[in-house]
Amino acid sequence: MAINVLVVDDSAMARKMIVRVLHMAGLPLGTVGEAGDGVDGLAQLEAAEHDLAILDINMPRMNGLDLLARIRGVARLRSLPVLMVSTEGSDVRVERVKELGAGFLRKPFAPEDLVEAVVEAIGGAS
Ligand SMILES: [Mg+2]
Repeated sequence: MAINVLVVDDSAMARKMIVRVLHMAGLPLGTVGEAGDGVDGLAQLEAAEHDLAILDINMPRMNGLDLLARIRGVARLRSLPVLMVSTEGSDVRVERVKELGAGFLRKPFAPEDLVEAVVEAIGGAS
């Protein structure tokens, strides 16, 4: 089964790096889309089927935490596997991410850490 992923991060360089690691990981990828903020990310998640969303926290217009809360409020997206990836590692925020049923990975990370977190996020939801 192909895994359709959406990478939501306001840094084009961060998105590029995540996409590259996903492709190198040997995962059965389908489409890998990108969005530059939470507003665009939510629109894309509502418009097409995804199997995983990888979200940055600090973004303009709608940040990753607000996006995650919105995702959990949409019936079709309620159980979408989400991995939050951020330099923002305060305990309160990480706690909130976990309450909303998402994985958390701190930036910067090694490629293998991202792959492991992705596999866990996908596996934990099925
Ligand atoms: Mg950011």
